[in-house]
Amino acid sequence: MIHFSTGGCNGCDIELVAALTPRFDIERFGALLKGSPRHADVLLVTGAVTRQVRDRLIRIYEQMPEPKFVVAIGSCAISGGVFQGCYNVTGVDNALPVDAYIPGCPPKPEAIIDGIVKLLKKLGY
Ligand code: SF4
Repeated sequence: MIHFSTGGCNGCDIELVAALTPRFDIERFGALLKGSPRHADVLLVTGAVTRQVRDRLIRIYEQMPEPKFVVAIGSCAISGGVFQGCYNVTGVDNALPVDAYIPGCPPKPEAIIDGIVKLLKKLGY
């Protein structure tokens, strides 16, 4: 997995980081955060996708090897959330094909883990 924050208030980032810690331990499901998109097959997107960050997000996605999947975490990533309707917010759906949505503002670490595990089950892992 690789995480990319496109903006927002960073609440979702904090919950995602909590999911990675030994307390919630997402690694027990075989999900490991990597430092490079070239080593990742799941892109975790948090925050509202703005026009400024959209091209960078697409560039990161294009660097990932196939097969690859996208998870939108939090209301901002899913719909723009509190930033919906802003002139520069485009939404992740207009940038990438999203495979899983994890709603919440922010979603709890348990919900993030549940969403990622459901995606892995859907993929047959
Ligand atoms: S969904 Fe809520 S918690 Fe997450 S980045 Fe947006 S405003 Fe912050």
